Amino acid sequence: MKFYLDERLVSQGAYEILRAFFREEFEQIPFEALENCRGFFAALWFDDSAGRLTMFISDGATRCKESMEIEPVFCSREFKLIQRQLVYRTASEFCRRDLPWGLLTGIRPTKLIAQERAKGRNEKEIRSYLRDVLYVSKEKIDVIFQVDSVERPLLESVKANSYSLYVGIPFCPTRCSYCSFPSYARNQHESWVAPYLDKLDQELRETAKIFESWTLTSVYIGGGTPTALHVDELRRVIRLIRSYFSVLAELEFTVEAGRPDTLNDAMFEMLREEKINRISINPQTMNDETLVRIGRSHDAKAVVDVFHKARAFGFREINMDLIVGLPGETMQDFETSIQEIGKLQPDHVTVHSLAVKRASSLGANAYRHEHEELWVGTDRLLYRFADENNYVPYYLYRQKNIVGNMENVGFTRPDHVNLYNVYIMSDRQTIAACGVGAVSKFVYTDHIERVANAKSIPDYLKNMEDKLERKASLLTKFGEYDINTGKFIDSNDEDE
Ligand code: SF4
Repeated sequence: MKFYLDERLVSQGAYEILRAFFREEFEQIPFEALENCRGFFAALWFDDSAGRLTMFISDGATRCKESMEIEPVFCSREFKLIQRQLVYRTASEFCRRDLPWGLLTGIRPTKLIAQERAKGRNEKEIRSYLRDVLYVSKEKIDVIFQVDSVERPLLESVKANSYSLYVGIPFCPTRCSYCSFPSYARNQHESWVAPYLDKLDQELRETAKIFESWTLTSVYIGGGTPTALHVDELRRVIRLIRSYFSVLAELEFTVEAGRPDTLNDAMFEMLREEKINRISINPQTMNDETLVRIGRSHDAKAVVDVFHKARAFGFREINMDLIVGLPGETMQDFETSIQEIGKLQPDHVTVHSLAVKRASSLGANAYRHEHEELWVGTDRLLYRFADENNYVPYYLYRQKNIVGNMENVGFTRPDHVNLYNVYIMSDRQTIAACGVGAVSKFVYTDHIERVANAKSIPDYLKNMEDKLERKASLLTKFGEYDINTGKFIDSNDEDE
């Protein structure tokens, strides 16, 4: 699609909306080229002499145009919103359809509710803002408020100076084709395991000292696949965490067991002995052909077997991850997967929509989903499944360029919420993060500061200490921050 965009206007917002409607890449063209455009093209411009903002889309046969008189303030949020609305309405008329998420792209919808609530708006006013200004469908507004009703009480009870701990283990048995996480196939990087664990030991010890006077509320070991470590290696990591951070036995402690091909009796036994109370078994799909296609070395039966084994070992909180839109799959394949997962009745189900990232092998090969339109309606299927199986959505986020323009959503049985997931998604609690690719978040009342660890093991081994220093300095700053006024206490003021 050719696209002329007045350089004074919103670029990213307009592109995202057009991409969601047309699922095409754009070739930018200059204004002069518009006159000779014959095929499929669009244009958004502001005519200074007429004082009009105009959006135009044509494919030769159908033409849609909308324009409005307006006094432009090019840098204002209001004018940017008006431009996005105009692009949306014109594309919607051209395509004769709406986007369920309207203008919401790449934002956590419940965060938006919190922002609106902070302005003093009530639910009715927020609902009409989402519907009339941001063009969000009623179904999605209901989902947002459902998630909000679960997460809000939890977020309101987050105590000052409390935090959660994330620990990253960047090894997996093989690398999945869609994966963009910093993770290594263990069998190709065996010699990195021991130095990595030693360095992680050091980072955990120092981080625990930094957070000594703070209260820990949840622990999450993710990755990668933590269970790609041998039983004794993972036991060591868990014990280090328990001893350095004085973790109480009953605290929420999750291990992402992830890949069924890393789980056996010895691993389950160790996880139970070490009092891990939540695990995740992540098939992503229950179709054997797709599992081969994405680079997994197990089949769907292995998923079922390890799930039953986990239950037999006494795990009561098990999450399972699925992905909508894996290569070669259709909505029917996804339906098969959720039916199979439904038979197992895990306590939590997390559904992601495929987002092809450059760091994945799919992204490196410029993969594009062939049957994007076939995913329309998948969300209805999913929410019906959730409803029938007594799951409620409890966290939700959207990414750009995801299959079917859907959402990523975590479902849980009521009262079984994984606190860590709520905290990390909401940006409302400080997160101490250790290991490759881990990102620590320091949540102040008016802003967040992040410290991102190195994304590769060699870099992590070299510069972990620098990141520790940064974490320590941010926490010190935190100590001088007045949570009531939302301001840092100036040491000169204190002297006066
Ligand atoms: S199991 Fe997860 S972290 Fe490991 S390669 Fe696959 S997607 Fe990436």
